[in-house]
Amino acid sequence: MPIWSHEIRTPINAVLGMNEMILREEHSPAIRGYAENIRASGNLLLSIISDVLDISKIESGKLEIIPSTYDMSSLINDCYNMSAVRARDKKLALKVECSEDLPRLLSGDEAHVRQIIVNLLTNAVKYTEKGSVTFSVGGTRDGQTFMLTVSVRDTGIGISEENLGKLFDQFHRVDMKRNRNIEGTGLGLNIVKQLTDLMGGTITVRSKPGEGSEFTVTLPQEIIDDTPAGKIELNYSHSGEYEYVRSFEAPEARILAVDDLPVKLMVITNLPKDTKVLIDTAGSGKEAIKLAEKNRYHLILMDHLMPEMDGVETFEKLRADEKSLCGDTPVIMLTANALAGVREQYMYEGFADYISKPVRGKKLEDTIMKHLPPEFVNTDIQDVPEDNSGAGEAEEKLAAEIAKAVPQINMAVALPYCCGSAELFMDILGEFASNGRYEELEQAFAQKRFDDYRRSAHTLKSTSLTVGLEGLSERARASEFALKNGCTTLAETLHPDLMEMYAEVLEKIRDFLKKQRQETNSE
Ligand code: ADP
Repeated sequence: MPIWSHEIRTPINAVLGMNEMILREEHSPAIRGYAENIRASGNLLLSIISDVLDISKIESGKLEIIPSTYDMSSLINDCYNMSAVRARDKKLALKVECSEDLPRLLSGDEAHVRQIIVNLLTNAVKYTEKGSVTFSVGGTRDGQTFMLTVSVRDTGIGISEENLGKLFDQFHRVDMKRNRNIEGTGLGLNIVKQLTDLMGGTITVRSKPGEGSEFTVTLPQEIIDDTPAGKIELNYSHSGEYEYVRSFEAPEARILAVDDLPVKLMVITNLPKDTKVLIDTAGSGKEAIKLAEKNRYHLILMDHLMPEMDGVETFEKLRADEKSLCGDTPVIMLTANALAGVREQYMYEGFADYISKPVRGKKLEDTIMKHLPPEFVNTDIQDVPEDNSGAGEAEEKLAAEIAKAVPQINMAVALPYCCGSAELFMDILGEFASNGRYEELEQAFAQKRFDDYRRSAHTLKSTSLTVGLEGLSERARASEFALKNGCTTLAETLHPDLMEMYAEVLEKIRDFLKKQRQETNSE
């Protein structure tokens, strides 16, 4: 990843971020109109830059295909989810047809395979006004190789025969007369083609103007686990509802989780509970190093932003420590730093992987499974664990009560962060109501300690999202973002609204918790 890709994206993200604030605060239709235009053009500029950077990386030979093991169902799930909202917005049906005997685990460059598929799905949705987009996944086996075949079929405008040949050229947007209102760079398909070539695959297209198009990509991937992935739809939800199915069991595995916030440790130890992994916790980098000298861990989950020693420093010390029993243990970075390009940066520093916060149960489980030594991982489990039975009812009841008591909470957002468990949600909510971050922000503001203020806003951004407070999380993000870009005045302007909203939800949550406690006591 060229260093400057980050340098280019950062200021554009800052422009878009500041513009978001104008859109949020401004009511005058004329100014909102200007800001809407900045948003549309800014987003387009960002996507052009991403495409150009990708092309330049490919053409300078710097794009490497880096294979790693990935889970078929989570790949399909990701691609579906990344396109579902756009399809829904346009009232198009997004259908998924997967062969049931796809190998469960493959090895290949997952990020780039996903980029190819998402690009095709995005185009299909973009160039279709009515009907459906069908996403099919299948393939054939040849020894250890799986010829992964993905096809994306739409009922859209189609492409004329003479244009089909030019489709994969750079900056070539065909049929501009009809497509002039559709945003694009004409680089997407060129990138898809080049990535496919780099992976040794093929891409074909069939299309009829007025009827639709079908793009088919074939990519050779290595088979890691040939167990059929089964009916993939079962593992994800079409409507965004949450459904938890544990994917493995590893009772012998030992994991160390490092984070300075007790609530985060609580979430991380609880999320993969049904997989029976043993998780020890450390509240600081120092403590982590001590524990790693005493115990042999198979995996370490490390928070990035911690006071004193941060995640990167702790990681370096762990690797250099001769007394450590975990010198070669894979370390996974947990961070709210979700900028494009950071993944590569962490990998470059030697981290095995990266998860962006707030951590979701499924993602955490998939990542743990990916990095634990395979001999510890038992995937031969058919059940949904017993203590999960009847869970749905408790969650439904809680969601109904919460909707009344604290309408700002969106349970559909919160539940994936606590593996769909009402009990864990209540624990986290209790922590949220009592952690004193409100006072921290107030004091830091009064004493103009804006570095501390930024850190508290950063934490609030993810803890509030974990309990489903999207609005508060957004506000905290805006303040953090303003300070990150040195805009103290902006953060000062945002402060009263942030605190007002925070105080209001805290009061409602505390009332709700009090009532719950009274009910439990009287039962
Ligand atoms: P763009 O950014 O313009 O979408 P692409 O490289 O992804 O660029 O696609 C090149 C051109 O191919 C598009 O401008 C469009 O005219 C055409 N095209 C791509 N996908 C489809 C599709 N599914 N249906 C109809 N036309 C398509």
